Amino acid sequence: MSTNEVTIIGTGPAGLTAAIYAARAALNPVVYAGVQHGGQLTTTTEVENFPGFEHGILGPKLMTDMTAQAERFGTKINYEEITKVDFSSQPLKLWAGDHLIESKTVIIATGATAKTLGLKSESKLMGRGLSTCATCDGFFYRNKRVVVAGGGDSAMEEANYLSKICSEVILIHRRNDFRASKIMAERARANPKIKIMTPWIVEDTISDETGLTGLKLKHAETGETKNLETTSLFMAIGHKPNSDLFKPWVDTDSHGYIKTTNHTATKTPGVFAAGDIADPLFKQAITAAGLGCQAAIQASKFLEGH
Ligand code: NAP
Repeated sequence: MSTNEVTIIGTGPAGLTAAIYAARAALNPVVYAGVQHGGQLTTTTEVENFPGFEHGILGPKLMTDMTAQAERFGTKINYEEITKVDFSSQPLKLWAGDHLIESKTVIIATGATAKTLGLKSESKLMGRGLSTCATCDGFFYRNKRVVVAGGGDSAMEEANYLSKICSEVILIHRRNDFRASKIMAERARANPKIKIMTPWIVEDTISDETGLTGLKLKHAETGETKNLETTSLFMAIGHKPNSDLFKPWVDTDSHGYIKTTNHTATKTPGVFAAGDIADPLFKQAITAAGLGCQAAIQASKFLEGH
């Protein structure tokens, strides 16, 4: 069996940028695409904040183009999911089912999955009123009334961001107490454009052929129900980093994000982490791509030194 120089797990902006850089450094990267080829951008519509596209680009198209760019320089993409790893010694070992892969370096770019409310019509309305990213989609609802669901720091941050571009932000949380830090919650309460509704639960969506038109709400204590008119709901109830598989070989923070030192290095030599999996703060396509570039260059330097 041959040993890969660089194996990349994940095909979001971090994984594919790492592949482009590793391929152009003649390292013949092998990429494992996993269950959601293209990552979170494949579930969005227009991406208007990725530099280089004056008029924006559709998320799935951006990822298809990045894939083609990586392949043009010799990246091999396998549409398999890595199910087990053993990074206890060199070469590093990975399995896709029964298929054993050996590699000198590994770049983990498995991302973080945004949690959603589990509403019936979520898949149908995602990108047509439903969103999990205010920075990505807020602009489409400028000067409109928008709703944010959640009670943590993410929800406060999203509500605050949206209040700068939207006419009104309704922040809905299922409890009267916020999990958010005091300062973030107070900032939201003091913002005249943010109206807080607690304890209300978003039970269902109302939609027509144009997309979301409203929400069905239920009071968590009295059981009262009502409808709220809106064309957008931002679900800001946290992310789940896809790091479980790697936990014995990398350190993670209390939420599961991989801790890196010296840019993208993990505690295991030759194993690097890039993109949302190692970024609890920014979680943008462009920051993920930047980390992917760093990881590929660091993997290349690691190989030179060994
Ligand atoms: P979080 O702290 O886990 O909060 C998630 C919120 O969503 C909670 O209020 C929770 O309600 C609610 N929620 C979860 N599942 C729900 C459901 N099915 N239906 C309705 N509501 C639901 O997540 P986060 O806000 O993403 O923050 C994660 C970490 O990142 C935190 O440590 C946070 O401080 C940090 N962070 C920091 C900043 C900043 O400092 N600028 C910004 C963002 C995040 P309950 O409270 O009822 O459980």
